[in-house]
Amino acid sequence: MDVQMDVKTNQYTGTQELVYTNNSPDTLTRVFYHLYYNAFQPGSMMDVRSRTIADPDRRVGDRISKLKSDEIGYLHAKSLTMNGKPVQFKEVETILEVTLPEPILPNTSTTFQMEFEGQVPLQIRRSGRDSEEGVRYSMSQWYPKMANYDEQGWHANPYIGREFYGIWGDFDVKITIDKTYVLGGTGYLQNPNEIGHGYEDEGVKVPEPKGNTLTWHFVAPQVHDFMWGADYKYKHDKVQMDNGITVHHFYIPGPKTTENWEKLKEYTPKAISYMSQRFGQYPYKQFSVVQGGDGGMEYAMSTLITGERNLASLVGVMVHELAHSWFHGVLASNESLYPWMDEGFTSYASGWTMSNIFQENANPNRGSYSGYYRLALSGLEEPMSTHSDHYHTNQAYSSAAYSKGAVFLAQLGYVIGEEARDRGMLRYFNTWKFKHPNVNDLVRIMEKESGIELDWYKEYFVSTTKTIDYGIKEVMASGDNTEITLERIGLMPMPIDLVITYKDGSQESIYMPLVIMRGEKPQEKGTPVRIHTDPWPWTNLSKTLVLTKPFGSIKSVEIDPSKRMADVHQENNKKEF
Ligand SMILES: [Zn+2]
Repeated sequence: MDVQMDVKTNQYTGTQELVYTNNSPDTLTRVFYHLYYNAFQPGSMMDVRSRTIADPDRRVGDRISKLKSDEIGYLHAKSLTMNGKPVQFKEVETILEVTLPEPILPNTSTTFQMEFEGQVPLQIRRSGRDSEEGVRYSMSQWYPKMANYDEQGWHANPYIGREFYGIWGDFDVKITIDKTYVLGGTGYLQNPNEIGHGYEDEGVKVPEPKGNTLTWHFVAPQVHDFMWGADYKYKHDKVQMDNGITVHHFYIPGPKTTENWEKLKEYTPKAISYMSQRFGQYPYKQFSVVQGGDGGMEYAMSTLITGERNLASLVGVMVHELAHSWFHGVLASNESLYPWMDEGFTSYASGWTMSNIFQENANPNRGSYSGYYRLALSGLEEPMSTHSDHYHTNQAYSSAAYSKGAVFLAQLGYVIGEEARDRGMLRYFNTWKFKHPNVNDLVRIMEKESGIELDWYKEYFVSTTKTIDYGIKEVMASGDNTEITLERIGLMPMPIDLVITYKDGSQESIYMPLVIMRGEKPQEKGTPVRIHTDPWPWTNLSKTLVLTKPFGSIKSVEIDPSKRMADVHQENNKKEF
């Protein structure tokens, strides 16, 4: 792409050459492009949805409906050809519907040439100009972006404000803009010694630009999105990591930013190192943290975050958006269909990363569990298999995607054991990077890694809103033995770890896997010795165990003291004597 940005009108023009390879076995007669900026216009689907949803996002509310003509966003195709032949196209708000003059056969490539023009909207949600913190340009979802065609067909969702899905590509982008502006975002700058602005090699004297503009040339291999932030006030910090990765920070210096952004230079490299070791090697040569947008949002090799935060909040949002690089960036599951596989797994990973960076020992996912419990008991829950645009409320969407999605992985450690789950996460990344995995792909990896069947876990926890509730019904003496009766009250079955604590302080456990698991998790490190394994068929609502210990020696009996099983009513999980 070659783009000219006018910083006075906030309008831009560009050309795009797209070499599209049809890797599917299907013949394509149509293609679709996303034109996201057209959502920022009064009366758009995003505007109507934002005003009529039961619990509006306060960042959007009715703001789109009030945009004036020089504040709206737009993105229009001016011309389009396919292999040099003119192509018919029709703009339907945020989607360009394209009828091809000739089909694209399987395993062939075709070249599209487009001229386009756009206007950057006043910043409403994620992207836009002149953010609350005074950042001039947060340029995300700004270019005509080919929709993805995969084994489920086209994904040409209209943009109503939530989640993205794109095709892998090698990007080559030239941006011409006023010479005072500093740019940061996706990609590797190809002409750093011409541009300067903190990109130049050490000791290089950057020549004064001849005109009023500079042309920034970026390349970004194997990404599915391209974002850039731009401001003439940005300070650009560069940190070189030992492993060859460069970390860039861009922020507007001031009393609310400078001190904490200075400290951030220590945390971003630390987080990249931890995430790489725990979840798979970060595959790019740079990561850029750019002040902009309206909170935090992930992009290829980069993030846009608001910058006027206390240190804990600044590190927290950086870690969250960085963790997206693994799930949104590199695995890139369809976020519209499986938002929980991105936001949930990101929340899970950022919880672990934060607790590692700040040396905390408490359960890193405790916040996700409480979020899920609130959702499950609210009456608003919808299955995680819901398309992100189609949740009835923002609350049901965000609690399912962020909290329940994180619990899916944290709780998986309870089902198959932490070690198998952790090995599985690395194998998942290494097997499925750059391939858009779906939930079945993940579950199959975890089955292979653990030797345990997990289809039931996926069905119940992802496709339904059934909840987990087990309880201890009765503990009673039976001669020299003790009889323990447990009950399943909730509709979702789970394997049970039952821990018995004796009056002498010792502990033992009884493990009750589900028959449908066709396997057992190994004894976990640091857990009480397992004296007994006894499957519990899911059809049976109660189970009675005989413990060959006198009732008088028992201090307490407890279901899952690790609290990794997401039991929505914990009060019946423990009996003390
Ligand atoms: Zn996120």
